Amino acid sequence: MAVEPTPKAKSGKVDSSTQHTPMMAQYLKLKADHPDKFVFYRMGDFYELFYDDAVKASKLLDITLTTRGQSAGEPIRMAGVPYHAVEQYLAKLVKFGESVAICEQFGDPATTKGPVERRVVRVVTPGTLTDAALLDDKTENRILALTLEKGALGMAWLSLASGDFALMDTTVEKLMSELERLRPAEILIADGASLALFDQVSAPVRRLAPWQFDRESAARNLTRHFAVHDLAGFGVTDETLALGPAGALLEYVRSTQGGVVPQLAGLRVESHTQFIELDAATRRNLELTETIRGEASPTLFSLLDRCATGMGSRLLRHWLHHPLRQHGPILERQEAIGALVESGAYIDIHRVLDDVADIERIASRIALRSARPRDLASLRDSLVSLARLPGVLPQQPFFAGLAQALQPDPALHAMLAAAIKPEPGVVLREGGVIADGFSAELDELRAIQVGGGEFLTQMEARERERTGIANLRVEYNRVAGFFIEVTNSYLDQVPPEYRRRQTMKNCERFITPELKQFEDKALSAQDRALALEKQLYETLLEDLQAHLAALRLAAHAAATADTLACLAARAVECNYVAPQFVDETVLHIDAGRHPVVEAQIDDFIPNGVDFAATRKLLLITGPNMGGKSTYMRQVALIVLLAHVGSWVPATAATIGRVDRIFTRIGASDDLAGGRSTFMVEMTETANILNNAGEHSLVLMDEVGRGTSTFDGLALAWAIARALIEKNRAYTLFATHYFELTRLAQDYPQVANVHLDAVEHKDKIVFLHAVQEGPASQSYGVAVASLAGVPRDVVRQARRKLVELEQHSVTNGLQGDLFAAPLPEEPEEIAADPVLVALDEVNPDDLSPREALQVLYRLKAISDNL
Ligand code: ADP
Repeated sequence: MAVEPTPKAKSGKVDSSTQHTPMMAQYLKLKADHPDKFVFYRMGDFYELFYDDAVKASKLLDITLTTRGQSAGEPIRMAGVPYHAVEQYLAKLVKFGESVAICEQFGDPATTKGPVERRVVRVVTPGTLTDAALLDDKTENRILALTLEKGALGMAWLSLASGDFALMDTTVEKLMSELERLRPAEILIADGASLALFDQVSAPVRRLAPWQFDRESAARNLTRHFAVHDLAGFGVTDETLALGPAGALLEYVRSTQGGVVPQLAGLRVESHTQFIELDAATRRNLELTETIRGEASPTLFSLLDRCATGMGSRLLRHWLHHPLRQHGPILERQEAIGALVESGAYIDIHRVLDDVADIERIASRIALRSARPRDLASLRDSLVSLARLPGVLPQQPFFAGLAQALQPDPALHAMLAAAIKPEPGVVLREGGVIADGFSAELDELRAIQVGGGEFLTQMEARERERTGIANLRVEYNRVAGFFIEVTNSYLDQVPPEYRRRQTMKNCERFITPELKQFEDKALSAQDRALALEKQLYETLLEDLQAHLAALRLAAHAAATADTLACLAARAVECNYVAPQFVDETVLHIDAGRHPVVEAQIDDFIPNGVDFAATRKLLLITGPNMGGKSTYMRQVALIVLLAHVGSWVPATAATIGRVDRIFTRIGASDDLAGGRSTFMVEMTETANILNNAGEHSLVLMDEVGRGTSTFDGLALAWAIARALIEKNRAYTLFATHYFELTRLAQDYPQVANVHLDAVEHKDKIVFLHAVQEGPASQSYGVAVASLAGVPRDVVRQARRKLVELEQHSVTNGLQGDLFAAPLPEEPEEIAADPVLVALDEVNPDDLSPREALQVLYRLKAISDNL
């Protein structure tokens, strides 16, 4: 490609102290339209960045910062990336949350006076990526726009890669949990909206002019885009707050895609009643798709995901974050999985899908006219594999629906098969993409080039004979064009009509009039062929638009089959059962397991849970490391999986209506996230107390731990009571405040359960089995003793423990538990005589006979009490 002179060479033409060079003037004009983005300015084989962009990019991308020439009296700082490797740099910048305006050159630098014309052809932003190389194939890339109005929140989000476009009106309090659910890659807000709300948001936030959120023009644009009379059919009214963001989003996407808006699947209105609500903390605590430390595994998703395609994985991830509330659609999925398990068809489905590419993403690149030749080739091949899918689906109504969607018009395959070479070139620019036989004109132009190969061999043979130079070669390369090469030792035999073209180290390269004539013909044929291929390819992309809707349906059906097959495979491999749904107030799980923990350890102990209208709060006590958190999370994960439609890790499960899941997990668990403050603990608790209802599932782990003992105990006690009396949610309440176990005496709907440990030789062994009743309290002291804490200290601790226990018995939990101060002098309270007697015994000093006597003595004391 001909390259323009560098800025330096041009700078001579202008007054270098005040005026910019023509090229810099052009650059600055383009940059002015994109002040908040990097401008990648195409110059020959490079994209160049200038001035501050160059400085910043050189740091972010680790590329060399140089200074070249001057403009307006200033040296031009510059950094560049080669065009053929641009994607890796774009990927990096986007990961940093940056956006890039790609500016291409139009016209031929050789024939243009001044700088060639340049235009921004597209803008790459984190939320509008579609290039395969820049996207994670297991995650949906969404862009979200939102507006806030008097406590109300309107939001719209869109995935360019899948064409999904949805909106929802909700309240500002839901902002964080919605952001956690949707995980947008980029957020658009109206300039002027409070930014404080977004302090903790990791996605880049872009501010647009407030008029872009105007509801009226949004309604106009959307009706025009979807070619409908009004938006009522989508369930959108003039009152829908999210209308403004939806309009802003559509226009923003249009501006980044060079004016083209891809085909969108429609506009979905989501409502809170559709899905089980999970707040932001809960999504994190349950480690659905990311561990608390932010890693991708081990999580519920990493455990379950065995999908054959990226589209399947993305759908599974979506399902895990969107457990359904209505039993009807859940049962549809569950029964489909049942049919797959029974028939074993999940194996065949995955076998077929192994050969299917990510046609969902290819479809969106076709919609944006950015599909690459290899995209079309893999779509063509995938269509053949896809056609085999209906044949392996089970005979069941749900799959009948999928099978129908899996049959796109055969004309689509025919079109691709005729147009695209079996193995097309990687980039259109270099040709070799359009199939032979598709265009007679192209075939002819190619023939001239192929004929060229023969011509060169013939000419080489002829010239060798004529000149007597045995190693003379006639060749072609892209830089030098056609040439005759003669090594230095034969230079004296070169005929006079050879004209020197290039001098190399060991040889000279020549051209002859005959070869020049051939070169002109071949190169022009090549240029014409490339131009024609480009034109044919563009027409093909245009023709494919008509098939997009059907292709999207097929892609979604394939993804659904993939996800269901994955869940069926995991149900079989991990030994899950289909849960039962009922309308009564019940959550009953037999021998449940924590799906992720069980996969990581050898002997996982299953535990059931039993909730009913008369048993709504389980107080869980037991030693640290006993398995309390694991148990609570396992209940939540089983309930969640059941609502995804999946089978669950248990031997049986009966589940009543559930509308929300809340979790408040112990502060110490979240230290890595730096969110261990008592304030966070109480904020999350407030959210639960304000929002949990009788169909909610609440996990409370070690609430009150973040403050002083009495403070914490008082709070935990009051919180537990509120949950019992007011919220009446299904509650798992793990606590280290043993005093709370007395709640079971006051409230029939409270039950105590505990996890146990036993001392075995010099170790403490955790049994991990959940049992009815409160835990025995003395594990802390036992563990301390086993850990080698000096005997005196352990003995004193035991005594103190007895005193404290007696003290709380005499005061009772109700009434004035917290008003009575602990006695300063514990000695005043009589200690348990059995323990006092025991304290005097040293087992190591006893013979077996003496030990038996001690036992009789202790028994006698205790009988006399
Ligand atoms: P706690 O919350 O009581 O401190 P955890 O739930 O964190 O205890 O469990 C501690 C460890 O015990 C876990 O990391 C896990 O390895 C093991 N564990 C927990 N529950 C079980 C179980 N049911 N079967 C086997 N091991 C378990």
